[in-house]
Amino acid sequence: MRRVSIFGATGSIGQNTIDLICRDPDAYDVVALTGGRNIAQLARDARHLRADVAVTCHEELLPDLRDALAGSGVEAAAGDAAIVEAADRPADWIMSAIVGAAGLAPGMAALRHGTTLALANKESLVTAGSILMETARAHGATVLPVDSEHSAVFQALVGEDLSAVERVIITASGGAFRDWPLEDLARATLAEASSHPNWAMGQRITIDSASMFNKSLELIETREYFDVSPDQIEVLVHPESMIHALVGFTDGALMAHVGPPDMRHAIGYALHWPERRRLPVERLDLAAIRQLTFRPPDDRRWPALRLAREVMRLRGLAGAAFNAAKERALDAFIAGEIGFQDMADVVEETLDTLTRDPGLSSAPIDLDNVQSMDHLARMRAGDVIKRRKSREQVVWS
Ligand code: NAD
Ligand code: MG
Repeated sequence: MRRVSIFGATGSIGQNTIDLICRDPDAYDVVALTGGRNIAQLARDARHLRADVAVTCHEELLPDLRDALAGSGVEAAAGDAAIVEAADRPADWIMSAIVGAAGLAPGMAALRHGTTLALANKESLVTAGSILMETARAHGATVLPVDSEHSAVFQALVGEDLSAVERVIITASGGAFRDWPLEDLARATLAEASSHPNWAMGQRITIDSASMFNKSLELIETREYFDVSPDQIEVLVHPESMIHALVGFTDGALMAHVGPPDMRHAIGYALHWPERRRLPVERLDLAAIRQLTFRPPDDRRWPALRLAREVMRLRGLAGAAFNAAKERALDAFIAGEIGFQDMADVVEETLDTLTRDPGLSSAPIDLDNVQSMDHLARMRAGDVIKRRKSREQVVWS
């Protein structure tokens, strides 16, 4: 039996992972499941899968979790440290599907045990990609991509000579506002930004898809996984979300990965790698689909893409700063403090203030520096948000 743990088990990726595991329950021994506020879901899944331990990141919810698990034999734990402790429990395969930079510490702990880490948590790669990959190498651990685009690239590269790769193209659906008139974007509401035309995902990544911050994280993610230079990575808008990525080789061939927009493919590929097994995803009927369309990305509509290119140029701790500023700006949009388009402005202004400090590009990339930069960027982004709000009040009064 394979020992598996799922971090972020109550989220969209976590639930899809559980769906696959439940189809073959005798094959897996579930070690740890973690979640947040949805204690009922966490406890239900932990009971059903007979996990050793269930952990919520919210310490104050420990009594609720204990109650929900009473008599089940599943241990209850709570808090950030307990999540990292759960990642220290030996497992053969770990799904990293916490959203945000909070996924970094448990991912690092898991890699130190030489495990196989299925990595959906792209933020940890953007924040500390080089540390994560070095840790994996040092401990003989394996990192497998669980993002539809990066899983697609990974699959297109099987058996290929990496030196023959000319370019990597990741596709983007364009999110909720791809066809909106530009002038309407400033008025986009939280509900409108939280609905994706093709993919069912957590709220934060759905909003990041509308703003293209998700694709901007994925540009950086591509560089970290495949060691290609930023000018070899392209973004292509493809509204149908059927082609997930393409790899272009020196002989002019383009290998495309085509499949329905269902994350169970990328999760299942990482679960069974290096084998392929039957997965419960729709089989595409291309004759019925008839046509697939493509368009170039528009930097005016999606300034996040330009910012990601700047982050890749700066290197160093810029990824940590970028991700943290983006998370803070997203919090502010969700809380109704800033508008949809203000998110990119806040991130850009935060990066501008931080680039005046030479430490951003030159400080050594270690976990302490990454964490300090994450903290500093959140504070600076908070200041930028405050300044914008007070300017707005002056205009209105
Ligand atoms: P989600 O919001 O549905 O779930 C997030 C999970 O993380 C939940 O279990 C939540 O309880 C937990 N969590 C949130 N904050 C936490 C914290 N501070 N500490 C510990 N746990 C915390 O998110 P999702 O859509 O499943 O995405 C998860 C990750 O996978 C993200 O990094 C996202 O970018 C990536 N991803 C998601 C998809 C998708 O289709 N949903 C596709 C590709 C990549
Ligand atoms: Mg993706």
